[in-house]
Amino acid sequence: MSMRTNKLQEWHNKRIKPEEINKYLSASGKDFIDDDLIIRTLENNKNPDKKRIHDILSKSMTIETLTLDETAALLNVSDKDILEEMREAALKVKLKVYDNRIVTFAPLYLGNECINNCLYCGFKKDNESANRRVLSMEEIRREVEILAGQIGHKRLIVVYGEHPKTGIDYMVDSLKNIYDVKVKTRKGFGQIRRVNVNAAPMQVEELRKLRDAGIGTYQVFQETYHHETYRKLHPKGTIKGNYAWRLYAMHRAFEAGIDDVGIGSLFGLYDWRFEVMGLVAHSRELETRFGIGPHTISFPRMEPADNAPYAVKSPYLVNDDNFKRLMVAIRLSIPHTGMIITARESAQMRRNAFTFGCTQTDASSCIGIGGYAEGMQKQKGNRQQFILGDTRSLDETIREYAELGYITSFCTAGYRCGRTGECIMNLLKTGQEGVFCKLNAILTFREWLDDFASPETKKAGERVIEKELNEVKNKLPEFYSRLMEQYEKTKSGERDLYF
Ligand code: SF4
Repeated sequence: MSMRTNKLQEWHNKRIKPEEINKYLSASGKDFIDDDLIIRTLENNKNPDKKRIHDILSKSMTIETLTLDETAALLNVSDKDILEEMREAALKVKLKVYDNRIVTFAPLYLGNECINNCLYCGFKKDNESANRRVLSMEEIRREVEILAGQIGHKRLIVVYGEHPKTGIDYMVDSLKNIYDVKVKTRKGFGQIRRVNVNAAPMQVEELRKLRDAGIGTYQVFQETYHHETYRKLHPKGTIKGNYAWRLYAMHRAFEAGIDDVGIGSLFGLYDWRFEVMGLVAHSRELETRFGIGPHTISFPRMEPADNAPYAVKSPYLVNDDNFKRLMVAIRLSIPHTGMIITARESAQMRRNAFTFGCTQTDASSCIGIGGYAEGMQKQKGNRQQFILGDTRSLDETIREYAELGYITSFCTAGYRCGRTGECIMNLLKTGQEGVFCKLNAILTFREWLDDFASPETKKAGERVIEKELNEVKNKLPEFYSRLMEQYEKTKSGERDLYF
């Protein structure tokens, strides 16, 4: 064994701390995902009658997380008319909690070195054709200058591979670097104001450092909740091969004081109904234990990846109809949560997704390492994890959303005003967060239109702003004059004003 391999192995051996898992397991050593129970519950709730579904939809409207039985009933509906009623209810729930806003962000992949060997992924250790790279601090700055200074993003999801080169110290340095970049724009300045992190499960001590570095949401996706499938796809002896270490990543995050977490599942690895049940079980566990559910849920569909045949031959790939059904089921089952649909999906599917309850999306995305600075058109296939379905620019995307009546929000105020964790959960469940978000959406959209929009997009955006201002005047008169004060200041070039 070479010295380098030795060191890597040493790092590997110290990653998983059994004492940070075991205390959460039941007396018999089991975790909270009971595969047999999920399968039984799906079976026991077959052929639900219309009245039962109506009762469940009424419960969703109260913004209460559904039970596994209730979710199973929704997942078993196949009648077209009832499915349409469910879709309408999902949209109502979304509007009640999030109004007509769409939050945007950009993904930023900082490295593709990975110590794991997941069968469906092009970044896996054994893929020798992958062109490995980890961005230096200077390269990160260049990426952020484009994202914040030319495209106009305010919010990122930064993605790290599981590898000592992108360990906790690198993460902390990169977050600091990203927050430090400030770029002059047409009327003000561009800056990333919220960095969400998608990274491998960490130790409590590391998570404390991440909290102190000013992380937004901490995301870890379980990929599949089905134990046996998980075992098959994540080889034994790899860090990711430990199901429970990953499953309790959010428990450790709460322990470390990170109260804003995102969970997710990679759809296509196992039966989609089972995965939705897993997400609901995970949410209920976090709510029961910590009083706080996931702030966001992601539900990427598996895409073809370089040298990863499982990504195309899986028997569980999810077709468009079932994908729509699972989005509706998530929205109704975990009504308070933000739902993220990414540019993996086509423009048409993303348009649909907003009518099923999705709330967040990315645009102008580049998933190649270093791809923003090097020009998105030139990104190399073997430096990205999968293939995107929608490569339109943020400007084009925003114009389309504005024409459909949505306001794109760049708001990042929540976590900076302490509206996270239990506080945000209560605000979301009672519909109050919507008020702050509406006001901040208007201010941040104005900023973006003035700093980055093309003339056509500006026109479409201004029509939406006018409508929103009128709504505030009529429905929230107590906020109107303060909003207008901030709005005028924003128009004249002041930046980052929020409620
Ligand atoms: S899915 Fe993640 S952990 Fe697995 S091989 Fe790919 S980058 Fe590594």
